[in-house]
Amino acid sequence: MERLITMPPADEARLNRWINGIDQFNDTVGDGTTRHYMTATECACREYIRSEMEKLGLRVEVDCMGNVHGTLPGTEPELAPVWTGSHFDTVLHGGRFDGVAGVVTGMEALHLIASSGAAHRRDLTVIAYGGEEPARFGIGCIGSRAMAGRLSVEDLKSLRDQDGTVLYDEMKLRGFDPDAIASCRRKEGDVFCSLELHIEQNKVLEERDLPLGIVKAICSALNFVVTVTGQAAHAGGMPMDVRKDAYAAACEMSLALESLVRENRLSEYCTGTVGYVQLSPNAPNIIPGQVQFTVDIRDCNAASKDALMNAVQDEFQKIAEKRDVGLRMELQNNDKPVVSHPVLMAALEQHAAARGYESCELISGPFHDSLFLGTFTPVGMLFVPSKAGLSHCPEEWTDSKYLKAGAEVLADALLDVANRDTL
Ligand SMILES: [Zn+2]
Repeated sequence: MERLITMPPADEARLNRWINGIDQFNDTVGDGTTRHYMTATECACREYIRSEMEKLGLRVEVDCMGNVHGTLPGTEPELAPVWTGSHFDTVLHGGRFDGVAGVVTGMEALHLIASSGAAHRRDLTVIAYGGEEPARFGIGCIGSRAMAGRLSVEDLKSLRDQDGTVLYDEMKLRGFDPDAIASCRRKEGDVFCSLELHIEQNKVLEERDLPLGIVKAICSALNFVVTVTGQAAHAGGMPMDVRKDAYAAACEMSLALESLVRENRLSEYCTGTVGYVQLSPNAPNIIPGQVQFTVDIRDCNAASKDALMNAVQDEFQKIAEKRDVGLRMELQNNDKPVVSHPVLMAALEQHAAARGYESCELISGPFHDSLFLGTFTPVGMLFVPSKAGLSHCPEEWTDSKYLKAGAEVLADALLDVANRDTL
């Protein structure tokens, strides 16, 4: 515990300077923050982060996906490193803290450790991840997904933004080498563990007046596209008992999803959402002949998620048979949820308590880079309060006193685990 005495307090002014410095790189000034992956603005921001990390004396590398790694070397660099950090891209008209809070507190934590002169055996690396938000290319966690080996060169060639720009081409244009994606890959054992700080994006901490949350598990998403095919016909001519209304069937399916998720008792937290619906022909006097809609299921428990998916698909099938409509379900994505490592949770909890910061355990509904990091290394996550629970909007706010608390606990926990042989 003596190292806690020598660790200087985190500097709110420096944290604010970085938050504001990163927020200058914004494509929608005056209307929230927009910094999409592999745009000129995002690339300029990457250079800013790189130079700020260099000013801290970190050894900086930018990998082929545009993730920025800043390393504070340990005394035994042959050991697997300890990672921290989060993403620096944003959604459309988003806020200035989502992701960035984890980048700047990670930088501050490494700076505090370096300033304290405390010895650490393992290298400590803060990473600013690229492309965590699915905002531009429709897929999230591009930087960390590549590290997990869940993204291929072929994927990069098939991912397009709304203007038709191919991610692979855009990366080349911006000076990156998409063909080298395998060089980002990390396998089990390559990284000792990762601790990510993120804003809560919910209001549990605010309501309980707590500065910090310790994440127990991160929900992952299961997405599928449903196509219901009925028969388009005259809204007045076709009697109710013989029509094949694709939209009525889709509505019944949507309500069935809602009930199944609400009634699910296998998991502590899960959600089910139909967020996109397209009717055809979509005219006032024609019975809808075809409907396409999306299903988004989030769950913090893998077994529960699989059971839910099966139940939902069975129920949709029954509804389709009852209504005599065609049904096609295409699975788009099914990532596994991640459970935080108990030793990392305990370390975060203990170091928070030692600093006098109260905390509680939370489930993360949104996904984070840690979801993919968790496929090859033990992860822990620290949440800081979001004002009114708002995020992904211009009003997103986290007081700098919470960033300070987070940076200090992160510094203590990183230093602690960087000197451990095993977790
Ligand atoms: Zn985020």
